[in-house]
Amino acid sequence: FTIKMDDLKLQEELGKGQYGTVQKVSHQVTNVVMAMKEIRLELDETKLHQILMELDILHKSTSDYIVEFYGAFFIESCVYYCMEYMDAGSLDKLYGDGVPEDVLSKITHSMVKGLRFLKDDLSIIHRDVKPTNVLVNLAGQVKLCDFGVSGQLDKSLAKTNIGCQSYMAPERIKAANTYTVSSDVWSLGLSLVEMAGGKYPYTYDNMFAQLKAIVDEEPPTLPEEFTPDAKDFISACLRKDPQKRPTYGELLEHPFITKYQDVDVDMAAWAQQALATRKARDLEARQKSVAKPNVS
Ligand code: ATP
Ligand code: MG
Repeated sequence: FTIKMDDLKLQEELGKGQYGTVQKVSHQVTNVVMAMKEIRLELDETKLHQILMELDILHKSTSDYIVEFYGAFFIESCVYYCMEYMDAGSLDKLYGDGVPEDVLSKITHSMVKGLRFLKDDLSIIHRDVKPTNVLVNLAGQVKLCDFGVSGQLDKSLAKTNIGCQSYMAPERIKAANTYTVSSDVWSLGLSLVEMAGGKYPYTYDNMFAQLKAIVDEEPPTLPEEFTPDAKDFISACLRKDPQKRPTYGELLEHPFITKYQDVDVDMAAWAQQALATRKARDLEARQKSVAKPNVS
């Protein structure tokens, strides 16, 4: 069946990105809670139809490591993309001061499985691997979202591409349109350094300096306390030469992943704890801003 706006009841805003807003909605017909992403585009109907057609391949196969796609529609020139609601939110809001190695290994395992599924089963490159696009639920599952399924959608969004933190691989910065699977492996590595250390690893106050550092400087590394296996995994992902980066198959056989394969890391408990900590921090920040109003 198809999803229509009339069947959706808005619940709350989950977040805002560069291109639009994500809302929690409930589908009145099935009682399923979903996340609906509104993407504002200036496109004609033909192109909007093409986007919906391209998104349709997501109905064909599913994975435990990919956020489920429920359907999409457009109204005027906005595309509405309905997907599985992930009740612990995205990793950028959960990693706090940094995640411990066993949890990081499990997150990595899910991300690599997701990326490999996209490549092998759907023949797509993600193109936007970063902590905001890795979602978690309170059952402890970790899934990818916002991957480049629709060429037309990617093309239409490309114009305003750059955010203030770049996860782009050096080869992409040096020459536009040189995207390969290994560019995603770089973005994976960078996201892992961020999650392990609790902050985005490049710190420059302007975009040019930041991109220059990605190209010219030594790649970032994990904090001291991580094991040599973890450090080796990340430094392999962050090799400057894309051809020297490991494949997904190789990554899944790396000791950083296999070491924890038979270890039962309680991801549900971690997700619950991380969400609770985040909510407490948000509340504290809000109370501070009430106590000391920003007079400007
Ligand atoms: P950018 O626009 O740079 O890609 P982004 O990924 O944060 O940044 P969006 O994809 O628009 O932007 O998402 C906004 C926020 O909404 C995310 O950061 C995430 O916290 C939340 N979100 C997105 N999809 C879901 C979902 N399926 N379930 C729960 N929360 C979600
Ligand atoms: Mg996103």
